[in-house]
Amino acid sequence: MLDLENLQIVAAAIVLILLWTVETIAPFLPNRQRRFRHAARNISIGLFNSIVLAVLFAPILFLLTTWTQNNRFGLLHLLELPIWTSTVAAILFQDAWMYFWHRINHRIPFLWRFHKVHHSDPEMDVSTAVRFHTGEILISAVLRLGVIAILGLSLWQILLYDLLIIPFILLHHSNIKFPEKIDRLYRALFASPAMHRIHHSPERLETDSNYGTIFSFWDRLARSFRLRDSRTEVKYGLSEFTGHETEKLSVLAMMPFQNSVIPSAKGENDYENLIYHQ
Ligand SMILES: [Zn+2]
Ligand SMILES: [Zn+2]
Repeated sequence: MLDLENLQIVAAAIVLILLWTVETIAPFLPNRQRRFRHAARNISIGLFNSIVLAVLFAPILFLLTTWTQNNRFGLLHLLELPIWTSTVAAILFQDAWMYFWHRINHRIPFLWRFHKVHHSDPEMDVSTAVRFHTGEILISAVLRLGVIAILGLSLWQILLYDLLIIPFILLHHSNIKFPEKIDRLYRALFASPAMHRIHHSPERLETDSNYGTIFSFWDRLARSFRLRDSRTEVKYGLSEFTGHETEKLSVLAMMPFQNSVIPSAKGENDYENLIYHQ
């Protein structure tokens, strides 16, 4: 069990280093300053969260999945599908849950307080993929236990999904210059970098779109898919922060507990003139 968790950390480290190198060679937004400090800050948050999860949830996860397995509890245990069908279903169910969970993080003000730590990064790159407030990670892990029980997911199906999402999440946050042709092809099935760039825009209409983790069809089905036709300058972060204050770990840690501006759904900038397509 612990070996598989180590495998996730090792896989994340390898993909991160790889994409970091490509970001250096072919950046989407060039001239980034203090990249190493920025990445070190985000990665330290990610590492801390992994340790908290491993200590608090790994034993519970093991006990829960052993119990559901022994008692044939949950949808997939009841259906008794062939292994491949069950594996594909498990991946799709978990990705659909991630879509829903991400979407309610934007919808429910209490959850947004935590999730905005991820969105507050003014310079999105591969390291932003692991920048989440520990509170969000813990709430997510608790709710996920319920989802795991209801769906009857086995331990290896959970670990497989957790391993699978690593390259997808890291890639769609990366500051790599992808030709539009490649992104178009990729986003036909998967949540692409061009899609996730829109998700990290400070404009609320754009922030509240493209929630997908692995697959892009959840956004298309639920009508939250949004891409700009215009090539207007890409901005990241949240309008309530200038950017520099979110460089401090203490500010990020306390962010959910500070009173903040309720973001308006209406555009504040010159985004109204942009053309979107779905
Ligand atoms: Zn989000
Ligand atoms: Zn993101």
